[in-house]
Amino acid sequence: MSKRPSKGCVYLIGAGPGDPGLMTLKGKDLISRADCLVYDALAAPAMLAWTKPDCVKIYVGKRAGNHALPQTEINQLLVRCAAEHETTVRLKGGDPYVFGRGGEEAVALHAAGVPFEVVPGISSAIAGPAYAGIPVTHRECCTQFTVFTGHEDAGKSESTLDIAGIAAAHGTKVMLMGMSRLRETLSALMAAGQGGGVPAAAVQWAATGRQKCVTATVATLADAVEKEDISSPAVVIIGEVVALAPQLDWRSKLPLCGKRVVVTRTREQASELSQQLTQLGADVIELPTIRIADPTDKRDFAEAVVDAPHYDWLVFSSPNGVRRFFQAFFAVYEDIREIGGARIAAVGPGTAAELKKFGLMVDVMPRKAVAEELIAEFDRKGDEFGGVANVTMLWVHGEQARRVIYDELMKRQAIVDECLAYSTVAETEDPCGAQARLREEGADIITFTSSSTVRHFMALNLPLPQGCRIASIGPVTTATLAEFGLTPDIEAADHTIPSLVEAVQKLK
Ligand code: SAH
Repeated sequence: MSKRPSKGCVYLIGAGPGDPGLMTLKGKDLISRADCLVYDALAAPAMLAWTKPDCVKIYVGKRAGNHALPQTEINQLLVRCAAEHETTVRLKGGDPYVFGRGGEEAVALHAAGVPFEVVPGISSAIAGPAYAGIPVTHRECCTQFTVFTGHEDAGKSESTLDIAGIAAAHGTKVMLMGMSRLRETLSALMAAGQGGGVPAAAVQWAATGRQKCVTATVATLADAVEKEDISSPAVVIIGEVVALAPQLDWRSKLPLCGKRVVVTRTREQASELSQQLTQLGADVIELPTIRIADPTDKRDFAEAVVDAPHYDWLVFSSPNGVRRFFQAFFAVYEDIREIGGARIAAVGPGTAAELKKFGLMVDVMPRKAVAEELIAEFDRKGDEFGGVANVTMLWVHGEQARRVIYDELMKRQAIVDECLAYSTVAETEDPCGAQARLREEGADIITFTSSSTVRHFMALNLPLPQGCRIASIGPVTTATLAEFGLTPDIEAADHTIPSLVEAVQKLK
C-alpha cells in the first residue's frame, strides 16, 4: 500500500457489548471530539448522539438485504478518513481486538503510515455472561476460562478450531459467533470428550434491552436455543458457573425488563429519557421525530439576545429556549452578570432546571409545565412583584409555541417582546434503522414528550404497533394526541422526564 501523508489519527475504540454506559470515559471523550466516525451494527445508537453536529458518520455494517462492507474496503476507508480528518474514530462492538478484526485494521493503518491508537472495550465474552448472572470464574468452580470463536473465516476450507483442546480445557468456555453452527460445534465438542451434562447457556443481545437468555446443558442447549428462538448475536457459556445464574441473575429483576419503549424526542435530548428507561431494563428504540434547528430569522434572534439585559422580566417557555438563548448570549457577553437584574419566569421544572445550569433561579414557575398555569402563577404571585402592567418582558420561545403566554401577558398590560430562539423541524436522519425496527419488532410503549413529537411521529405514517400503549408528558401533548384520535394510557403527573419515567413504570 502506498504511504500517503495522513492528516490525523485513527482511534480503534471498543464500544462494549451494547449498554452505552459500558463505554470507557476515554472512548466517549474521543467520540465527542471525532471529525469522522466509522461504525457498524453492534455500536449502540446512543453513542452516535455523542458526536459533534458536523461529525461525518459512516456506516459500514450490514443493512437489510445488503452485505457489510468487505474488510479490505473498511481498511482502505479508514486510511482515506485519516487523510481527510484530524480525528477518526473506528467504533467496534465489544473490544476491538477480541474477534473484532481490529487487528487487521490496525495492521492496514500501520502499513499506510497512519498513526492510530486503541481504546479497549468491554468484550461481550465477559459482559454477556455477567449480564445473565454468570461469573466467568468462580472460586469453587474454575481456575481458568477459554474464549473461542465458533465461526471461522468463511474463506477457510478446513477448520483450524482446536476442538480437542477446547473439549479438554478446564474451567469455563465462552464461544462467540457460534450460533450458526451451534449444534455441530457442541456435538463435535462432546465427541471430543466434553461432558454433555455440564451446564451451558446462550445469551443473546447481552447488555441491551433485548437481552434473552436460555440455560440448559451442553447436550440440550441446541434444542433449547431453537425453542426459545435465540440467534446471533449471542455468547455461549459452558461450565459449572452457569449453575449460578438463578441466584445471580440481577437483570431480569429490573422493573422494565422485557418492555420495548419508543423515545420520540430529539436525538440530543433523547439520552436523558433513554438512559433512565434503559437503566430500568427497558429495550429502548430511539426514534427521534424532531430536530431543533436555528430560528428562521437568526438576525432578529441575535438582536433580541443582545437587548435582553434591558428587560424587567425574561420569560422562558422551554428548556430548548434556555439552551439556545444562552448559547447566543455567551457568544456576545462573557459574564452572566451582563444579564442584569431581570426577574425570571419558567414554564415548568424542566425549564427551571436548565436555567439552574447557568446559575439562575426562577421567580415564577408553575408546578405543571403548561402556559396557562404560568399565567395563573403570575396572577397568584403578581403582587409580590408589583404586578405585570407596564412591565417589559422578553418572551423566549420556539417558533411553534402556542401564543397563550404572549396573549395573556399583553391582556394584563405587560409590554412583551418576543425572542424566537429556535424552530422545531422534522428529523430526517435514521442512521440506525429505528423506523424499520419499530415496523418489524413492534413496541410495548411509546412516549411523547411534546406536541411536536406527536405531530412529527404521525407525519411519518408509521403504524402504531398493536397493543402499544401511549405515555404522554402532559396535558398539552395529550390534547395534541386527541387531535389524531389517540388517548394516552397514562399522563405524567409532573410534566418532567423523571415523572414520565414513573408513569411508564405504572404501565407495566
Ligand atoms: N469484539 C466483539 C466481538 C465481535 S464478534 C467483543 O469483544 O464482544 C461478534 C460476536 O460477538 C457475536 O457473534 C456474538 O457472539 C458476540 N456479541 C457481540 N455483542 C454481543 C451482545 N451484545 N450479546 C451477545 N453476544 C454478543
